[in-house]
Amino acid sequence: MSGSGYERAELVSWLRETDPEMLEQLWHAADETRRSHVGDQVHLRGLIEISNHCVRLCGYCGLRAGNRELGRYRMSEEEILECADKAAQYGYGTVVLQAGEDYGLSRDWIASLVRRIKAETGLAVTLSLGERPEDDLAAWREAGADRYLLRFETSDPALYAVIHPGRGGRPAHPSDRIELLRRLQELGYEAGSGVMVGIPGQTYDILADDIDLFRHLDLDMIGVGPYIAHPATPLGTQGGGANHEDGSGGNGGGRTHDSADGEQVPSDELMVYRVVALTRLVCPEANIPSTTALATINKESGRELGLQRGANIVMPNLTPPEYRMLYEIYPDKACVNETAEMCRGCLNGRIHAIGRSVGEGPGGRRRSGR
Ligand code: SAH
Repeated sequence: MSGSGYERAELVSWLRETDPEMLEQLWHAADETRRSHVGDQVHLRGLIEISNHCVRLCGYCGLRAGNRELGRYRMSEEEILECADKAAQYGYGTVVLQAGEDYGLSRDWIASLVRRIKAETGLAVTLSLGERPEDDLAAWREAGADRYLLRFETSDPALYAVIHPGRGGRPAHPSDRIELLRRLQELGYEAGSGVMVGIPGQTYDILADDIDLFRHLDLDMIGVGPYIAHPATPLGTQGGGANHEDGSGGNGGGRTHDSADGEQVPSDELMVYRVVALTRLVCPEANIPSTTALATINKESGRELGLQRGANIVMPNLTPPEYRMLYEIYPDKACVNETAEMCRGCLNGRIHAIGRSVGEGPGGRRRSGR
């Protein structure tokens, strides 16, 4: 198993692989590829969830505008800077500013926030603020933002239309995240994307195409985690939604999308590891997080297993606890009752316990031979 190859048919067959010995080989190959291309350091990205306001109606996400039960917040500039200072003190190389798609966060306000964080902490800044107009993205890049995360969620246009409707209105705002990722790359951002594993309507063929698209987009960062049903969303109320490894009670009970031409992918842990490992093999140099969603479905060892099956990044949460509990994209999120200090201590311990070290510096994309 080497970095090249992995044609679509081969990806599908690995996604369907159940033989424990074969899977051990897959984990081993992914871990070796991770070690030889991005090394043993685990880079930490401090996550600050700066607002949970959102204009969109994504079928999977608890922050969707239609969820009227959720108390909404927007952090102040000073609160965000305090979190960024903590990141610098803790030795994290990057802060990630994430939010719902919130136009209350204006272009100029974010630009000046990015300038202050860069000037006062020197940290790398990653933005994850949804599908903003190109002028906003350009202004933030100009202000010094280094990276942008925007998961394309699925490569299948019909499924995408169901789970992630455009904004409508006049003029309508059709949603094309793949096009937006290309614009981000042209603007000079390191671009990150990813998908959820096991979203209702996702077939093995679609998931293999997603992995193939990671390769074609030449992404710098790729995040994949399990889809976790949220009861206040259309997809989450279709029945199913447990993330059991045997598939029982798993997602796929509901069919928002005609997947008669293929079988529903389960949203279980093992499937996420298959996708993490294949992503590493297909994109050997990418920065791949062991995600919070994975840690949520296996609180004991999900993070570690992700790191041992292809991932090299962890995103400790810096959001103040009173806001953290309101940033409920899915229920029962790992670490929701912890403080930034607790996350730091816990993650350092977990990283050392598996024989890895904590990365120093910004930990940007490495490119061999360029
Ligand atoms: N508003 C930003 C940030 C969204 S949260 C954006 O849309 O890009 C970041 C990611 O969380 C999403 O891209 C999605 O892949 C994931 N997510 C949302 N709801 C989820 C759910 N119910 N289960 C698992 N992951 C989810």
